Amino acid sequence: MPKGSSKADQPTVKVSSRGAKRLKDGHVWVYRSDVVSAEGVPPGAVVRVTDERGRFLGTALYSSASQIAIRLISREPIEDFEKLLRTRLREAVAYREKVVSGSNAYRVVFSEGDFLPGLIVDRYNDLLSLQILTQGIDAEPVRSAILSEITALLQPVGIVERVDARVRELEKLPPRDSGSLLGEKSSTVFIMNGVQFQFDAFAGQKTGAFLDQRENYAAAARYARGEALDVFCYQGGFALHLAEKCSHVTGVDSSRPALEAADRSSALNQREIEWIEANAFDLLRDYADAGKKYDTIVLDPPAFAKNRSSLPTALRGYKELNLRALKMLRPGGVLVTCSCSYHVAATEFLEMVAEAARDAHRSLRLLESRTQAKDHPILVNVPETAYLKCVIAYVSS
Ligand code: SAH
Repeated sequence: MPKGSSKADQPTVKVSSRGAKRLKDGHVWVYRSDVVSAEGVPPGAVVRVTDERGRFLGTALYSSASQIAIRLISREPIEDFEKLLRTRLREAVAYREKVVSGSNAYRVVFSEGDFLPGLIVDRYNDLLSLQILTQGIDAEPVRSAILSEITALLQPVGIVERVDARVRELEKLPPRDSGSLLGEKSSTVFIMNGVQFQFDAFAGQKTGAFLDQRENYAAAARYARGEALDVFCYQGGFALHLAEKCSHVTGVDSSRPALEAADRSSALNQREIEWIEANAFDLLRDYADAGKKYDTIVLDPPAFAKNRSSLPTALRGYKELNLRALKMLRPGGVLVTCSCSYHVAATEFLEMVAEAARDAHRSLRLLESRTQAKDHPILVNVPETAYLKCVIAYVSS
């Protein structure tokens, strides 16, 4: 048994009154600056968290490296972390059975959102893709317990681990390669909202696809029509959905491998989609200058604001893209505009869209203001768990 995995040898971490208030307010993190004492606590240990007077606040995973020193796993004393882990995994699977439909690809476990901080498990049909981001989850026997439980629950043909080398370095975890943890299969086809996707577990970003947009793909397709442009299309998530409704679809991205994957998926669905490898900013400028027009435009750029201080620059970037897109939309057209930066609040994002509309002299009706799919749970007391914005608007003139 590793240190801290049973209650008897659980170390204690004391937190300041500010840290204690944060936990009492419903948050699950305490920053290192609010840790009062954690001497001799091993990296990744399961710890009792108390306030300065020794009053019990909860059980947490401790990180010796991250600025987030404490990630709460329960507000109760926990005797057996492995047992809790198995229960949490079963709950995570049961929750998806309630909130996911029409897709055999979805996020099964989303870290804090499932009270398992640092664990991400995505299902792509018969494959599971796993990411481990914290010391507490990377430790044995936790890893083995996760594998045995998710195998029993979901019976995948293969499980792969996608390693984010930078995260492991920051979390002071020993380097590891991505690889198969069960079976050898690493590619498959999954179906989402009736659209088929070719999937390769070791290619691309994240664990391979942007599952958080699953419900937004379907929403966008409900309004999409005519000639459509999917900007920052990656492997074609929006474009392939739009192709079900639109007369012509163009997808734009700067990544050739992503476009090649997108092309394999369009062939699977027997759809003709035009894929263009280009810098989206340049292409939008050139197309807008050339007077090109569309009926549907999707904007789903990468996170421009990586931290609070880059917010003004990020908002300028979003505004430039949205302004150009709005100029190119015909009356009656639809704008689907997204931001995955947690640092851009939903209200700020909508204000940016409003400013872009004003500057483009377009009158916009808000159709839907959306967020990430429900398999990426938002904890109402943990604002950091809500990151995706997706605004769908109708250009009335
Ligand atoms: N809409 C996609 C996800 C987009 S992720 C989906 O639903 O799956 C952001 C994408 O932007 C990535 O594919 C990345 O390759 C691309 N990208 C980043 N900078 C770019 C740029 N300047 N021009 C074009 N594409 C860019």
